[in-house]
Order: sequence, then structure tokens, then C-alpha cells
Amino acid sequence: MGVINIIGGGPIGLHCAALLAEEGFETSVFEEHSTIGRPVQCAGLVSKTGIEGLGVELGNSIVNEVKGARIFSPGGKSLEIKKNKTVAYVIDRYLFDQMFYKKAKRLGCDIRTESKLIDVRNNSLFMQTKGRGEFIKSQITVGADGAHSIVRHAIFPKLFEKNFVQAFQVRAAGRFDKEFVELHFGEFAPGFFAWVVPESSTVARIGLGVSPGENAGNSMKEFLEKKKPNARILSKSSALIPIAPPSKQLVLGNTLLVGDAAGQTKASTGGGLVFGLKAANACAETIANHLKHKKPLADYSRNLQAINKELSMHWKLYSYINGLNPKQFDSLIAKAKDAGIEEFLTEYGDMDKPSLFMKKILFKPKMWGLLPAVLKTM
Ligand SMILES: Cc1cc2nc3c(=O)[nH]c(=O)nc-3n(C[C@H](O)[C@H](O)[C@H](O)COP(=O)(O)OP(=O)(O)OC[C@H]3O[C@@H](n4cnc5c(N)ncnc54)[C@H](O)[C@@H]3O)c2cc1C
Repeated sequence: MGVINIIGGGPIGLHCAALLAEEGFETSVFEEHSTIGRPVQCAGLVSKTGIEGLGVELGNSIVNEVKGARIFSPGGKSLEIKKNKTVAYVIDRYLFDQMFYKKAKRLGCDIRTESKLIDVRNNSLFMQTKGRGEFIKSQITVGADGAHSIVRHAIFPKLFEKNFVQAFQVRAAGRFDKEFVELHFGEFAPGFFAWVVPESSTVARIGLGVSPGENAGNSMKEFLEKKKPNARILSKSSALIPIAPPSKQLVLGNTLLVGDAAGQTKASTGGGLVFGLKAANACAETIANHLKHKKPLADYSRNLQAINKELSMHWKLYSYINGLNPKQFDSLIAKAKDAGIEEFLTEYGDMDKPSLFMKKILFKPKMWGLLPAVLKTM
């Protein structure tokens, strides 16, 4: 067993493991499934600036490149933001996760599949590996075990108790614009929105999120009937997406949380890959400083400050939009369109960093009509 034991062989746990192995620490990863990267429960959209800023080479995991987005309000008003270059990649999540797996393995991490964490108490992990139970003494434990995190439940049972949307996604055949992602707001997706992420002009990942307690499967049926009646379903999946304000409470004793387990997704979109990977950098740095220089693990909070600032902006955006009724949403979109938001976002928009364009609005007199809305999210 490693000095550092990471629960969850998703991209965030594996990235954290690779960074720590690179620093020379004995690192183990425990993944409950038999194959890393399966099952896939993701639309696989990542911003070009975000992923390239992390130095991640996507290689053959890129399925499609998109140049913009169309946003539809409940009453059918729309905005189109289009750049003349690639702004985001649609990736194959299986190949993406496998990339992180191969890197971590190459750097010497001990990666165990079919190895499920059952419980964690102080420094003891109770694992079930290929059906056999075992206790492991762990010097440092990282909970990278996703939205349902057992590690989080063990150390902070109340954290993000209700901060989730239930997501349902289908892969569907039909006719799609391969250069555009679509976002649809309406009563079919209470508490969130529906998305269409094209793999090509004939296949797309169509998904939506709904508030806890709503039936995501029924919502998807309604959405497809209303908006994509000709889509032919190829496969279905459902999962939780954490939608929460950033938490400062992510370390207890020798245990840290990262990625979806720590709620590190953009609340405005549900995207968690870029921010989770950034947080994995902060997590690995905190652990390395602790083991090498006796710095406290509680420094993790400070190391997450820049990430949390941006996540907090996403939370405010989400809370603002979610607080609008359909009429208010329609009127905001109409107002934004009149103020030239499409051209503005085409120039300054960044799907990961709303703070960049929010501030710029203050310096664009044409946009001042949107100031009340912007100020509520700042
Ligand atoms: C429908 C949907 C669409 C999404 N679309 C996007 C998108 O387009 N772009 C984007 O950036 N993000 C998207 N996300 C979010 C993204 O998938 C997550 O943020 C990302 O997968 C987080 O990575 P992670 O490694 O933290 O968690 P995960 O990828 O969930 O990995 C956690 C791993 O831990 C394992 N595990 C769990 N419990 C245990 C246990 N007890 N013992 C051992 N192993 C365990 C799991 O099997 C899993 O492999 C989407 C999510 C959903 C549900």
C-alpha cells in the first residue's frame, strides 16, 4: 500500500496520483470498477483554454471541435455566440480517463481495480477487493470517489447533502450542427437546463439536469418530444452532478477531498473536468508540502483560493439564473441580445472564467442595461 491512498480512479484521482508519484511518493489508487473510464457518464465538453492551460494533451480522445453555443430561453428566445476558431473540445471520456490511467501507471502508481472502499475511520480504510475484505492503514487518504463519495460521507456527512442535480443523458442519432453546443432552458429541466453536445453532424450527446426529487428520465422524454423529435436514442445513462458553492471544509485529519467528491464543478454548467484537474494540482501540492516540509494539510484551502473564486462566480451565476421565472429569463435574454451580448461574448466570453467578462461589462456602456443582473452575480 502506498503512503498516499487515493479512492477513485477517475481522471481527478489519477491526475493527483500521477503528480504525487512524480514527486517520488508511494501512491496507490483504488477503483471499484473493473475498467478505468467505464461506465461513461459525461457529455465530455472541455474548454480549449482550460484544458490546454493545464498542459493536458488530448491526443486521440478528441471526438469533435466546437466553435460556439446557442442558448434558448423557456419562451424560445435565443442567443448565438460563435468564434471563428475552436473554443471547446468534445472528448471520448473513456480514452480521456485511460490517458490519465496510463500516465499514473507509467509513473509507478499502484492502481487496483475492482477495489471498493466500504468505510473509512481515521487512518483505516476498509476495502473490498475482488470480493475480499481488507483493512488498510493509510498515512494520507484522498477522496476522489466522485459525486456519491463515501469518503465525504464519512468525514463531512452533511456536506452537499442536497446540492446536486440528477442528470440524464442519451447518445442519439439525428441531424446536428457539429460546430455548436446547444443549451435549452425550460420547464422540462426544472432547476437546471438541457444540453446538446455534438459528436458529429449525425450523433450528439443530449442531456439534462433536474432538481433532486424530480424525475430526470421523464424530463428527458418531454425534452426530446418537444425539441428533438427526430433524435433516435442509441444509449442512455444517468448520474448525479454536484452543484454547490465552493466549500472551504475539504480536509479532516489526514483525509482530503478532490474533484466531484469535493463539489468542484462549475455550478453554472455542471462541468467538472477542468476545475477538478486544477484542484488535483492544488491537492497534490498540499500533500507534497506536508510530507516534505511538514506544512499542514489545512493549507489545501489556501491553495484552492483562485479556483474557489471562480467556482463561487459560477455558483452566483447559477443561483441568479435559477431564481428567474420563465418570463424574467425571456426578458433577460431579449435585453442581453439588444445590448449586443452576442458580439460581446464572442469577443470576451470564456466558459470557465465568467469573472473575466463580468468585469469587462462594466466598461462597455452598451451593456450597462445588464448591470443590475451582473451586479447580482458579483
Ligand atoms: C451527465 C453528465 C454530463 C457531464 N458533462 C460534463 C462535461 O461536458 N464537461 C465536464 O467538464 N464535466 C462534465 N460532467 C462532470 C464530470 O463528469 C465530472 O466532473 C468528472 O467526472 C469528475 O471527475 P472525478 O474523477 O472527480 O469523478 P468521477 O469521474 O466520478 O470518478 C470517480 C471514480 O471513483 C470511483 N469510485 C466511487 N466510489 C468508489 C469507492 N467507494 N471505492 C472505489 N472507487 C470508487 C468511481 O467508480 C469513479 O471511477 C458531467 C457529468 C454528468 C453526470
